[in-house]
Amino acid sequence: MKGVFLILNAGSSSLKFAVHEAGSPVTPPLLRGKISGLGTTPVFSAQDNSGADIDPGALAALEPDSNHETLIADLLPWLASRIRGQPLVAVGHRVVHGGQHFDAPVLISPEVLRQLDTFVPLAPLHQPHNLAAIRAVAKWQPAIPQIACFDTSFHRSQNRLAELFALPRDLTNAGVVRYGFHGLSYEYIASILPDHLGERASGRMIVAHLGNGSSICALKDRKSAATSMGFTALDGLMMGCRCGTLDPGVILYLMQAKGMTAPVIEALLYTQSGLLGVSGISNDMHVLQDSDSPHAKEAIDLYCYRAACGLAGLLPSIGGLDGIVFTAGIGENSALVRRLICGHLSWLGISLNDDANDRNATAIGSTQSKVPVLVLPTNEEVIVARACHALLPDGRAQRPQEQYENTAQIDTGQ
Ligand code: ADP
Repeated sequence: MKGVFLILNAGSSSLKFAVHEAGSPVTPPLLRGKISGLGTTPVFSAQDNSGADIDPGALAALEPDSNHETLIADLLPWLASRIRGQPLVAVGHRVVHGGQHFDAPVLISPEVLRQLDTFVPLAPLHQPHNLAAIRAVAKWQPAIPQIACFDTSFHRSQNRLAELFALPRDLTNAGVVRYGFHGLSYEYIASILPDHLGERASGRMIVAHLGNGSSICALKDRKSAATSMGFTALDGLMMGCRCGTLDPGVILYLMQAKGMTAPVIEALLYTQSGLLGVSGISNDMHVLQDSDSPHAKEAIDLYCYRAACGLAGLLPSIGGLDGIVFTAGIGENSALVRRLICGHLSWLGISLNDDANDRNATAIGSTQSKVPVLVLPTNEEVIVARACHALLPDGRAQRPQEQYENTAQIDTGQ
């Protein structure tokens, strides 16, 4: 028996997980699921490899104010009971920020964890949760190898101009550059593009990852050429609660004229802006679509206008356009958002088949559209599972550290 990989994706408002059989090639997950609504009302759901719901009542007693570490501590014994008897080979994590240093997945050691701690100020909404998941697993099973896969790594293929800010050189040299995020999602989409577009997949593609966090990536040869997020995951598109691109003069004004402190501005830009701030109702696109409020409509309109501007702004990096992909919660499910964004792009010769768009079909471009428009579900966990396999092909860590011994049997405590 080759055992299993456990994949954890600890986001700001959700904790996603998947269990993959260790072995090559990486197969669909044995189970996957998520705890959503963290910070408000946590909701647990999980499916087996046939897509059927499993244990819907499990973890029903999750506390609304549970932090990621306690949630993971609750989740791990449940996962252990589901995969009983199968050796846990490794735990793979999505980690948002790998800085300039980590351009590929890495086996986690105390030293690596210390380095990842230094990136917390660059991704305050995400990095602490990712690292909390790593620490929770290390506490639970210190002997199990853990692997970090970075959202920033995929963008290290960008050329220098795409990475630079127009700031003095010493700041650039100190790492104040555009890193880009959502890299695991883009890597997954890039990996499946040939299944849908054949040779055209290597052309000039735009992928729009539209979720609670939203960004756009321009791909050429299925590599990242430019992306809308920058030094932090605040930049670029308008998002659920984040403002996206903002005149930096606004921040100076808030500090100097309004006397706002850095923590207050941070909360404003990360948690009170975007769809939530403009609508005054919710950060949830589904809720806004169902609302009659003119502010909800304006929030959706602004989201789509800004997304179209962001998309068009990346075209110089790839010199044209051969196809568009929509992915993530909004991109995969909101026909309205896709229609509004593509409406702003009709001058590029893009048009939708309304019926296909309304059905969330895979190919939604009309027969007249100059380029294909696709809806493809993303799967960041698969990319992490592939990295686990690449680093531990025979189920053993090529480990640089002592405390993570080789494969371990899950202790179910029973
Ligand atoms: P995260 O960045 O937290 O992973 P997701 O990719 O799960 O976010 O996307 C969450 C967003 O997707 C929410 O705004 C949610 O309302 C939206 N969404 C999900 N399903 C639908 C739907 N059927 N219609 C409109 N929006 C939807």
